[in-house]
Amino acid sequence: MSTLVVDVGGTKLRSEYEGIYEEYLSKDKELIPFLEDKLNRYKSIDTVKVSFAGQVNQGTILSSPNIKIKEKNIKEYFEKKYGIVFKIDNDLNCALLAESKIIPEKNIALLFVGSGVGSAVLENGSIIRGEKNIACEIGHIPFKKAPFLCGCGKDNCIEIFSGGAGLEKWFEYYKIEWMSLDKMKSSKDKTVKQLYENFKEGVLRAAATLTTLFNPKIMVLGGGIVKSNPFILDIIKNELEKYALKESLKELEIVISDIKNASLEGAKLL
Ligand SMILES: [Zn+2]
Repeated sequence: MSTLVVDVGGTKLRSEYEGIYEEYLSKDKELIPFLEDKLNRYKSIDTVKVSFAGQVNQGTILSSPNIKIKEKNIKEYFEKKYGIVFKIDNDLNCALLAESKIIPEKNIALLFVGSGVGSAVLENGSIIRGEKNIACEIGHIPFKKAPFLCGCGKDNCIEIFSGGAGLEKWFEYYKIEWMSLDKMKSSKDKTVKQLYENFKEGVLRAAATLTTLFNPKIMVLGGGIVKSNPFILDIIKNELEKYALKESLKELEIVISDIKNASLEGAKLL
């Protein structure tokens, strides 16, 4: 019998089954039909493990700002229909599972900047989950008012300014052609400059909030935007002291994740 592992992010859906890795754009591949196709095709799958970029509690998807999904009671649906074991958790919690396997620390904060802005925190060896497994949703703490809504329904989240999906909305709003963060950084255009500054400040606030609230020993940065713009590490290292409590910065180490796909690796550990 075998396990199918899937990581559903805001931009990409990745899967691994018997050593075969597949990658799709999330907008082209919906999770439910993808899983049903695999389960119908490979009868030896007896376990499905999913890392999901949304709020998930006990096998139920509570919300997913950047992903469309029809079946919310996903665990029950697949276990009843296919007689398999189904495990699912938030993608950042999965990533934290993978990181904590290789980082020998008990207090770890993860900050991932990709389509959205997410975090997860290991406090004295345990993942902070809260009442409904939705603690540490750093991307949705208030930052500034925007002229459109975040995927969560509010109009002032950090994620609107510092997440990839949010940046795309800004480009659309100002009718600016999409450009990479690197290009934004050196642009002379006033609007683009402002968007870049907002992006940077949002990331710094997210990093500082995690630092001041949870006093981690190590902060691990990841996500598509960080991985393709490693200069974000220097920004945080150099400017965090303007935003975070000084004492909490003394022992803090800040690194970029070494794991190629921490959420997918972490899902295997569910
Ligand atoms: Zn939000």
